[in-house]
Amino acid sequence: MGTLTTSAAVQILGGAGYTTDFPVEQFYREARIHPIHEGTTGIHGLDLLGRKVTMQNGKAVQLLMDEMQRTLVAARQHTELTPLANQFTTAVKLLDDVTKHLLSLAPANSEVFLSDATLYLELFGIVVVGWQWLRQAVVALSCLSTANGDDANFYHGKVMAARYFYEYELVKIHSLSKRLCSNDRVTVEMKNEWF
Ligand SMILES: Cc1cc2nc3c(=O)[nH]c(=O)nc-3n(C[C@H](O)[C@H](O)[C@H](O)COP(=O)(O)OP(=O)(O)OC[C@H]3O[C@@H](n4cnc5c(N)ncnc54)[C@H](O)[C@@H]3O)c2cc1C
Repeated sequence: MGTLTTSAAVQILGGAGYTTDFPVEQFYREARIHPIHEGTTGIHGLDLLGRKVTMQNGKAVQLLMDEMQRTLVAARQHTELTPLANQFTTAVKLLDDVTKHLLSLAPANSEVFLSDATLYLELFGIVVVGWQWLRQAVVALSCLSTANGDDANFYHGKVMAARYFYEYELVKIHSLSKRLCSNDRVTVEMKNEWF
């Protein structure tokens, strides 16, 4: 996500963004290392699905889900956040459904189980960032009841950014879950000789 975000920053400035006149080209290069060092994205996906999700019968994931449910309770105190709370409820259920589906594949074939672990990491990450935006929106709306001027503008901006994330980013979980629950095994069935 850092790679995509800093790439967008370069794009916003067009050709100028690609030059050293602005710092964003340096931010982009520096962000690009994150999917590589300290273990690559591919390895982190395998670690998340193959180890973290399965550890202690899913206890860690359950604790995370409990935290998300607490944020949902807080969000439902604000009627303005009902659309986001509804979308997030759907997202959490979808993540749970996908996780259960993938875990059901594990005993028969660990290669199939882990073949799309990177996509699972992406799905998981989008849901977690959606949760963080909901938390921010709850705080912003609470503060808006007393804020004025620049402070109020700041909190309005937070709520709008949360809405933007839900409309433009969170929706991507639906296409990811479609692939993750598909029975097509194209990557597993591919053979080295066919490259
Ligand atoms: C700037 C920088 C600083 C670093 N600093 C340190 C340091 O201080 N200490 C240290 O110990 N190391 C350090 N490293 C090394 C770093 O830990 C490794 O680069 C990193 O773990 C990735 O390993 P690799 O480069 O061998 O890539 P590989 O493991 O060869 O991965 C290549 C690609 O194949 C994918 N891949 C590999 N195996 C699988 C698999 N089984 N399933 C699916 N996909 C797979 C990966 O996701 C990746 O896209 C540093 C690296 C860089 C670039």
